[in-house]
Amino acid sequence: MDLFSAVVAFSWLVYFWETYLSKRQDNIYHQVKEVPTELKSVIDEKTFTKSRTYAIDKSRYGFWHGLYSQIETTLFLCLNGLPLLWMLSGLLTAKFGLNEEYEKTQSIVFTFLGSIITLVLGLPWSIYYTFVIEERHGFNKMTLGFFLKDTLKKTLVSQAIMMPLTALIIFVIEIGGDYFFIYAWLMVFTISMILLHIYPEYIAPLFDKYNPLPEGQLKQKIEELAASLQFPLKKLYVVEGSKRSAHSNAYMYGFHKNKRIVLFDTLLEDYSPVTRDDKETKDSKEKEEDATKDTVDLAKDTSQDNAPTQEKEEPKKIGCNTEEVVAVLAHELGHWKYSHMLKNLAIMQASILFSFFVFGKLMNVHEIFAAFGFVDQQPILIRLYIVFSLVFSPVNEIESFLMNVLSRRFEFQADDFAVNLGKKELLKSALLKLYKDNLSFPVADWLFSACHYSHPPLLERMRGMDEADKKSN
Ligand SMILES: [Zn+2]
Repeated sequence: MDLFSAVVAFSWLVYFWETYLSKRQDNIYHQVKEVPTELKSVIDEKTFTKSRTYAIDKSRYGFWHGLYSQIETTLFLCLNGLPLLWMLSGLLTAKFGLNEEYEKTQSIVFTFLGSIITLVLGLPWSIYYTFVIEERHGFNKMTLGFFLKDTLKKTLVSQAIMMPLTALIIFVIEIGGDYFFIYAWLMVFTISMILLHIYPEYIAPLFDKYNPLPEGQLKQKIEELAASLQFPLKKLYVVEGSKRSAHSNAYMYGFHKNKRIVLFDTLLEDYSPVTRDDKETKDSKEKEEDATKDTVDLAKDTSQDNAPTQEKEEPKKIGCNTEEVVAVLAHELGHWKYSHMLKNLAIMQASILFSFFVFGKLMNVHEIFAAFGFVDQQPILIRLYIVFSLVFSPVNEIESFLMNVLSRRFEFQADDFAVNLGKKELLKSALLKLYKDNLSFPVADWLFSACHYSHPPLLERMRGMDEADKKSN
């Protein structure tokens, strides 16, 4: 079998494997119709049924989207999409009279065209997902206008980063000589470090509003926890995730002595605008500026008297209370204590360096690129694309599986860390609330979760915490 057929065949192999895994998980959704005994006391029947229908909807969407993507990729490859797109980029480049250094210019045009096509083909799917599935289950908080504006902004920002980066990489490979792979990696490393630094400060605020966590009990408790662990907490933000969706989260970032913690407003019971009447929030979104002010005011209110402003009787209450949020952060600080982020970063960088090294071995094998329709001309960008995303696809599959295994280990470690700080019950109740708020289905097929879950299933985490607790006593 020639290389081209092997690549296409492998992509179908992966597709069938993924479909088989999803089918196993889908069977669970259809078979487990009642709350498992172990969770009876904590999850009510209504929430469970809701999470089940949500899971089934997402699974059905996943099936059709997966099938479509697979056919699209196959057609793109088999109908010579890659050489055609390259040719089209060349025509466009020539039209603008850019002949000098044409490969770099053409590569930039190619990158741009490629992402526009991907965007346009993917748009109906993401619109359907957001405005039909997420909407149906009460998670979507965006208007179509906000969504389109946001997508456009994302595209522009990522293009502004990708286009110069593409030109730079080609330049480094051209002039790097035998050891270009080291220089190429060094450049990618430097740029990702720069991006990690400027992203939270300059890029993320283009998309979402980050407010400092208002003074109050929660802030005080988080600062106490950070101080007790010598965690160099520099800033504490609340991001208005509720403007996008009702899903909740928390994360931290930053280097050295400059750490920041970001909490989604939807995580905080006393802060979340979603806790207010849903329709109200949506109306105010029509006038975006007003909505922003509104939320800031709400934050002030709640921080002072620590009671949510309820504008209508019985709003859907979501999020965790102060002690539970602190327990979630204890888990996050566990990731820091065990240097999980640094370890992930090191693995990623080693993998990039290795990939560039192998690319160096393959980049002059004429037959590889001829197999994809590039016989006379073999532009560097095309060679990069073919090697990194097509030829490497078996390696990429294995790598992502192993990264999930590692990530689950890290989650257990971070849970143990929180348990050792005496937060077992609080973390458990926080996790349960997050599960309910996000309508995550609590039962998983073992093979599906082994391959796909970056976090261990709920029950495993609760059992893990009990074990950690026993050990520490
Ligand atoms: Zn974690």
